Amino acid sequence: MTTETAHLVPYDEAVSRYDPVIGLETHVELGTVTKMFCGCRTTFGLAPNSAVCPVCLGLPGSLPVANRAAIEYTIRIGLALNCTIATWCRFARKNYFYPDMPKNFQISQYDEPLCTNGWMDVSVAGQTIRVDIERVHLEEDTGKSLHIGGVTGRIHGADYSLVDYNRAGIPLVEVVTKPVPGAGALAPVIARAYVTELRDLLRALCVSDVRMEEGSLRCDVNTSLTLRGATEWGTRTETKNVNSLRSVERAVRFEIERQAGVLDAGHKVVLETRHFHEDTGRTTSGRSKEEAQDYRYFPEPDLVPLAPPAAWVEEIRAGLPELPAARRARLQAEWGLPEGDMTSLRNAGALDLVEATVTAGASAPEASKWWLGDLARHANERGSELAELPITPDQVARVSALVRAGTLNDKLARQVLDGVLAGEGDPDAVVAARGLAIVSDDAVLAEAVDAAIAAKPDVAAKIRSGKEAAVGALIGDVMRATKGRADAGRARELILQRLS
Ligand SMILES: [Zn+2]
Repeated sequence: MTTETAHLVPYDEAVSRYDPVIGLETHVELGTVTKMFCGCRTTFGLAPNSAVCPVCLGLPGSLPVANRAAIEYTIRIGLALNCTIATWCRFARKNYFYPDMPKNFQISQYDEPLCTNGWMDVSVAGQTIRVDIERVHLEEDTGKSLHIGGVTGRIHGADYSLVDYNRAGIPLVEVVTKPVPGAGALAPVIARAYVTELRDLLRALCVSDVRMEEGSLRCDVNTSLTLRGATEWGTRTETKNVNSLRSVERAVRFEIERQAGVLDAGHKVVLETRHFHEDTGRTTSGRSKEEAQDYRYFPEPDLVPLAPPAAWVEEIRAGLPELPAARRARLQAEWGLPEGDMTSLRNAGALDLVEATVTAGASAPEASKWWLGDLARHANERGSELAELPITPDQVARVSALVRAGTLNDKLARQVLDGVLAGEGDPDAVVAARGLAIVSDDAVLAEAVDAAIAAKPDVAAKIRSGKEAAVGALIGDVMRATKGRADAGRARELILQRLS
């Protein structure tokens, strides 16, 4: 029986007849300086196989020593996710052969995870959904295989493969949710919201750089369908290594459409891992899922049990920073911005920038206007993050102040931002060098006003006869004549004075 099907059931129809149940397993590479069980560096992008040693290469006679910082980071994550922290637990040896794993086993945690039974709230479409966390455990990452010569980068069709062991042994935390039932049509959005919230939480905890594109945050998404009204859950599939927030949502959506097609045709969904393809938005069959007994888990004999003292755990708890959900609620109350703006700021990764801009003296609406407007467009054009733009929150606040003082209008402010981004210096320097300040000097404006009136006698006549609305056309001419620098309000006054 095949699990593939050409027949996808349209999404709305699929969720009208089937209830999706999702679950998420997220791997997080911790941002420790050294690896989990040895002193090798964890820096991303080093020359292949330059950060390896006998321990992480699994050479005979080498012995692992657990990284204290990695254990502390894991407890920090567990506490932030409202988990119970084990008072005593052990690492386990998970046995399997894979070319990118030099030891032929992975040191992980099996039936004694460090953190258990937590939860995290996510907000979706105005409602709060509590996602229960089953476990948070600590393990080591594998190396990386590179398949050369093929079209897809996968092993099929490749001429040869290379292995880079730099990543082998980097501390990896796995956060596993309990199944999330009752999500209905929102299942794909909830999956995405969960990963987004978890990413923000991990970033706030300073335990990982959470870069999905570099693989430091990787997500496996479990999806199953149950016929509406049925009591028993359907068989799940596990879509591996979905590496962007958008892909998380698309992968769940596709699996719902695909599994509905399989079930409609009278087939059974097969328990298997699947791969998500960014280009097509589809998943394809990977391998049938191993059962736990296939790994022959046993307690890792080379490491002592892990027994974090209660006082240490409490010390870590006391040191937790303000968590993202609480911070967003506080900032929204302080700034008075609508929910939609807060969501936009969060999605653009601009909360920190706006906060710093407000601290530097701008109002929250001003700060969010610049960061979400012109600066977001610049970042988009450059294909970079907002935070990577060569402009500081202090400089944005200064531009805001110049607008508030009447030195700049919005149009001129945009040119000042362009200048700062082009490396022409601080806003005041750009204003001086480009001559961008608003002209409200009557002597200078009068010339442009007189010229505008003289050029359009018909419009002037209309205004004289009381049709004040026509003044806009003359203001436009004055603006053009002064390259946008005229004080529009003052120009209006001068025109009306002359034509009264
Ligand atoms: Zn090493």
